[in-house]
Amino acid sequence: MAERDIPTIPHWIDGAPRPSTSGRTAPVFNPATGAVTANVALADHAETEAAIASARRGFEAWSGWSVAKRQGVLFAFRELLNARKSELAAIITAEHGKVLSDAMGEILRGQEVVELATGFPHLIKGAYSENASSGIDVYSLKQPLGVVGVISPFNFPAMVPLWFAPIAIAAGNAVVLKPSEKDPSAALWLAERWKEAGLPDGAFTVLQGDKLAVDGLLTSPLVESISFVGSTPIAQYIYETAARHGKRVQALGGAKNHMLVLPDADLDLVADQAVNAGYGAAGERCMAISVVLAVEPVADELVARISDRIATLTVGNGAGAAGAEPDMGPLITDAHRQKVSGYVDIAEADGARIVVDGRTLVVEGHEEGFFFGPTLIDGLPTTSRAYTEEIFGPVLSVVRVASFDEGVALINSGEFGNGTAIFTNDGGAARRFQSEVQVGMIGINVPIPVPVAYHSFGGWKKSLFGDAKAYGVHGFDFFTREKAVTARWLDPAVHGGINLGFPQNT
Ligand code: NAD
Repeated sequence: MAERDIPTIPHWIDGAPRPSTSGRTAPVFNPATGAVTANVALADHAETEAAIASARRGFEAWSGWSVAKRQGVLFAFRELLNARKSELAAIITAEHGKVLSDAMGEILRGQEVVELATGFPHLIKGAYSENASSGIDVYSLKQPLGVVGVISPFNFPAMVPLWFAPIAIAAGNAVVLKPSEKDPSAALWLAERWKEAGLPDGAFTVLQGDKLAVDGLLTSPLVESISFVGSTPIAQYIYETAARHGKRVQALGGAKNHMLVLPDADLDLVADQAVNAGYGAAGERCMAISVVLAVEPVADELVARISDRIATLTVGNGAGAAGAEPDMGPLITDAHRQKVSGYVDIAEADGARIVVDGRTLVVEGHEEGFFFGPTLIDGLPTTSRAYTEEIFGPVLSVVRVASFDEGVALINSGEFGNGTAIFTNDGGAARRFQSEVQVGMIGINVPIPVPVAYHSFGGWKKSLFGDAKAYGVHGFDFFTREKAVTARWLDPAVHGGINLGFPQNT
């Protein structure tokens, strides 16, 4: 594409695309070809303020709509998303690189939250206690917060915004979404659907940008809450800064997820699931399995079965040709590919054996793409940075342990606590595992245990800063503020007269 033909991806403010005047942009790549396909606007301070002010106006309009009318918008949005999801999947694949079927999978998991949100009247209706004290009724109201900020990562450009926006909007808030600058177009597509569904202008805003836009959201007195998903250092910064500015905040961070394999497990099932969970989306999932903890004597057999399966995997352009979608697409950027490669170098230098090496993979016809082949590491020392840090690429490491207890102790010694899984046929062991492991989401013979929409999503330790998880009941609590009303409608027959004592429940 000639440079003059490269489009600039705008914001979405006041219910319409808003070209940027900041003069700041960042390139957006097609990771499969390495080509720059667009430049995305990076907001300056004035644009950030304009987006927030528009959202405030949107909130004032939207929060006054009746529950029934708001519910109509949610249902319409769900129908539009469902009917046109293949358009969104193509956008995701073109900017993120994941294969089309996987892009569709992320949309469907996001759609689940929209479907949950359509039931919001039941979930925010509060409670009523009649005659709590003589002649006094007590009830609670769940009201929206106002303008809420959502800051999302590159790896789920549709699903993560959909973890938050439908519930926030259903509850009567206005959302300002700051998507990842690496794949910003999915957010605009969602904005168009909200508009078509009948959401008033300003109630869903997209602010394109980088740290400058994020800092504007974190410090604005008009923004009531922040929902963040991304890497741990940034999650911690978001949590601390937003809290210092008096905001409600939930900040989901990085992960290092282990799969504990007991000797009684079905090793073919384990090998299949380790490959799916380790290499799906090229490992760029916060719930990807990164470490297989093999309780001896099964490690050698497991390494052999996993490497046999890797040999069958295809890597290529996620958009594929009709009917010929590869198993795995590229990584998001060349810089990220170098980072992932660096971790494999570290593992090797620390004495691990690289059983399958993806560092030198070149995809024919896509020589400029950001591809990295599926990689299998055996005997990774647990002191290596390749073991302790998040790699976020298609790199699976097998670590040998002598017992269940040693495996659980290793999992619990890490700084993250997002997801984990156990593979076994022993119900007692699985039950002990779910009780003892210090991780927020646990799979029993399920490798990527992302909870359904009506159970909340979130990790422990440095995988989640704040008390509220995403979606489910936590989501409705996070996006509403409760009021308790104590009411007495005077009945002349029981009028109590003057009494200066503290009210008692008589
Ligand atoms: P990231 O932390 O680099 O970026 C996330 C968001 O923060 C983006 O919108 C980005 O523009 C913004 N940002 C980046 N640097 C910033 C800074 N210095 N100040 C303010 N804002 C900044 O994360 P990423 O690379 O886009 O996503 C991958 C990471 O997200 C991985 O660590 C992955 O584990 C994590 N993740 C976690 C979950 C979860 O549920 N726990 C889900 C998905 C992804």
